Order: sequence, then C-alpha cells, then structure tokens
Amino acid sequence: MYDKFNRRINYLRISVTDRCNLRCTYCMPESGIKLLEHSNIISYEEIVEVVKTSVQMGVDKIRITGGEPLVRKGIVDLVGMIAQIPGVKDFSLTTNGITLKKQAKALKEAGLQRVNVSLDTLNPERYRQITRLGNIEDVLEGIAEAQKVGLTPVKINCVIEKSSQEPDALEVAAYCKENDLQVRYIHQMELSMGQFSVVEGGEGGDCKICNRLRLTADGKIKPCLFSNLEYKIREFGVQEAINLALKHKPKCGSVNTNGTFYNIGG
Ligand code: SAM
Repeated sequence: MYDKFNRRINYLRISVTDRCNLRCTYCMPESGIKLLEHSNIISYEEIVEVVKTSVQMGVDKIRITGGEPLVRKGIVDLVGMIAQIPGVKDFSLTTNGITLKKQAKALKEAGLQRVNVSLDTLNPERYRQITRLGNIEDVLEGIAEAQKVGLTPVKINCVIEKSSQEPDALEVAAYCKENDLQVRYIHQMELSMGQFSVVEGGEGGDCKICNRLRLTADGKIKPCLFSNLEYKIREFGVQEAINLALKHKPKCGSVNTNGTFYNIGG
C-alpha cells in the first residue's frame, strides 16, 4: 500500500502492552504510569486481525514492542499466531532483555526471527541508574541466549543524549563489535515538544522514507509516532482504521501530545 506521498507502507509496529518491568528515566516516571484498564488493552485476537488485514494490504514486516512485550502473559502464543500468517516475511521484537534469557528459545520455536535489545551503557551502576530497576547481567545473558538460539541478527538499541561518541555509547559499540551485534543509536527524544531525530544505523525518524504504521496497546492505528493522529479499531473497524491512517499519514512528523514511547512503542 502507498500513502498520498507515494511512500510504500509495509511495516507494522505493534505495542502489545503499556506495562514495563523497568522505569528508564527518559521513558517513564519513577512512580510508574497510569496503566490502561484491561478492557482497553487490545486482545491477541484483535492483534491477529490487524496483522492479517494489514498483510493483505501490503505489510510484510512486523515488530512487536511495548511497554515491555515480554511481560505480557502469553506473548509466546501471540508470536506463534503471527508467525503463521502467510505473507509475514520479517518478524522481530524489541525488548529490554531482562527476561529474554528464559524466553528466547520458546520465542524462536514459535517463529520469531530476530530481536532488538535496548542497552544504553555497559556500566552496571549506570544501567541501574538509567533503568532504575534493572540488572545489566540479565540483559547480557539474554542477548547471549538470543544469539545462541538464532534470534539473529541481534540488534542493540542504544539511547544517547547528544552523540554516539559519548563514553557509554562508545563502550556499547565496542561490546557490539566484539560480540557480533549490530548497534543503532537513538537520540533521546521528547515527543510532546516535537523533538525527534533520525536513528543512527537504522531507518527510524526519517520521514521521507517512512514505511510504518503503528498499533497501540489500546487498539489505535497511528500513522506517525510524532503526531496526535490515531484511529481506534473498535470504533472504525480494522480495515477502515488502517485506511484512515494511510490517508492521513503526515508528510513529516511534528508533535505528539497524547502518547509516548511506552504506550505507542518507540
Ligand atoms: N521495552 C522495550 C525496550 O526497552 O526495548 C520496548 C519498548 S521501548 C519504549 C522501545 C525503545 O524506545 C527502547 O529502545 C527505548 O530505549 C526507546 N525509548 C524510550 N523512550 C525514549 C525517548 N524518550 N527517546 C528515545 N528513545 C526512547
């Protein structure tokens, strides 16, 4: 499918939950967030319907994200359901890696192809400061397990404050080189102030080549992370919500004041 600026849209990012087992300083307040009510969280059946419909319309690349997708109950079952949909060619998941060690094998067996793992530093204390709750050893073991079971290539998402030459970012780069991992640097963003930028080493944030639609944890199709536009699948129906998102996908992102990374899926 193409939007009105002739961009081919073939990528759907699905936020399966707004819940997370970390509280990264740039993402969530320490006290947590006001969680969505269970009845408002999209069901696995609804997610599968959105994937099937979007694949029929031309999507062939799916990413599961969150919140932290691995904390949603039954996530391996959802992965299995999506992996069986004919036409899904590239199927990945973004995680903080905290529980990846014990889930990697089951995810691979269910049909997941690869993972991106978030890691902003290699210093255990800094990791704890940034995430407020996390133990870096869990993440490093999760990454190793993902490689071992073949969820490859494993890519590392590293949030930077100003530059990929910052000490933490350089250490992450060295670790990636040693361990056959690909790194992409994400500038710290403030969606509500319209502060966003391209991902170094990735494709995100470049409006000219944007190929994405998003499904939020509360069942809205969003044409753009940096915009307030969103279309509820329970209100419009799946097909029409996708059509509306496609029709109104902005040429360029601006500001987003009604959502953030943890409920849209950064
Ligand atoms: N919990 C998973 C994780 O940690 O990868 C998936 C969801 S998380 C919202 C997705 C990505 O968004 C992570 O790499 C995270 O570092 C990034 N992120 C969150 N808040 C951000 C912000 N304000 N600016 C830039 N990236 C952000």
